[in-house]
Amino acid sequence: MKCLFALLFVFVAPAAFAQDNGRGAFATCGGPYRIYPPEEGGGWNHKRCAVVLTYDDAIDNHLDKVMPQLDSAGLTATFYLIGSSPAVSRRIGEWRKLAAKGNELGNHSLFHPCDGSRPGRSWVTAENDLSRYTVRRAVNEIRANNELLSAIDGRSVRTFAFPCGDLRIGDTLFYDSLKSDFAAARGTNSGFETAGRIDLSDIRCYGINGQNADYMIGLVKQAMDSGTLLVFLFHGVGGGHNINVALDDHRRLIGYLKEHEKDIWVAPMVDVAEYIRGQRVYR
Ligand SMILES: [Zn+2]
Repeated sequence: MKCLFALLFVFVAPAAFAQDNGRGAFATCGGPYRIYPPEEGGGWNHKRCAVVLTYDDAIDNHLDKVMPQLDSAGLTATFYLIGSSPAVSRRIGEWRKLAAKGNELGNHSLFHPCDGSRPGRSWVTAENDLSRYTVRRAVNEIRANNELLSAIDGRSVRTFAFPCGDLRIGDTLFYDSLKSDFAAARGTNSGFETAGRIDLSDIRCYGINGQNADYMIGLVKQAMDSGTLLVFLFHGVGGGHNINVALDDHRRLIGYLKEHEKDIWVAPMVDVAEYIRGQRVYR
């Protein structure tokens, strides 16, 4: 029924959305999303490419080091929070402020379970081993984390990021049971894709671990040249995690994005997912 409502709405309302800057509330099969109007000849919110900055695992430095850099450039990002992290419970007011500035609090599960049966995963504890989870348990915990995040930011639409990039429990893609809970999910495989080719259940990204600003800016240039989405996946920034990027390299990347904001749409993942959904609904 919701899908039917969405389709009917598309045929009667595009002019109204054009008046609304394309950001009105909209009912689709997955939930209430904002809709961006269709763009002639492709493009990303009228720019050459889109860049999404994502920061995983709820690390203190995201509040202490990343936010000052983003704030000074006037850019926003997605922070994928593990609900059980002490950096969440100790600093709820700061995460709330971060969200109020337009940043997304994304869902990175309640306990960050990873598949301990995969090679190189001997560090995974029995209680945090995704391969020992039922699908129902994974879904329930991820939904509980959504409730927590909603209590912090008051929002009902957000995106998910797979802990350790693990998509399956046994043979089951557990996100299939969560598609109506999220606007999209970010995986860990790398790649550039146009809006029409992106899999909203496994959005590609580039994990950064020790690469310098030149490398990251080179990726941005590739996205501009190819008219695609580029997603960065960060953990530590200036420390805080063994997967790390130097603070100065991160600052240089932010500076480049700011300098080229005429050509680059920098936005949280949820905004980009809504944009992609909107383009697909209209076509
Ligand atoms: Zn993680």
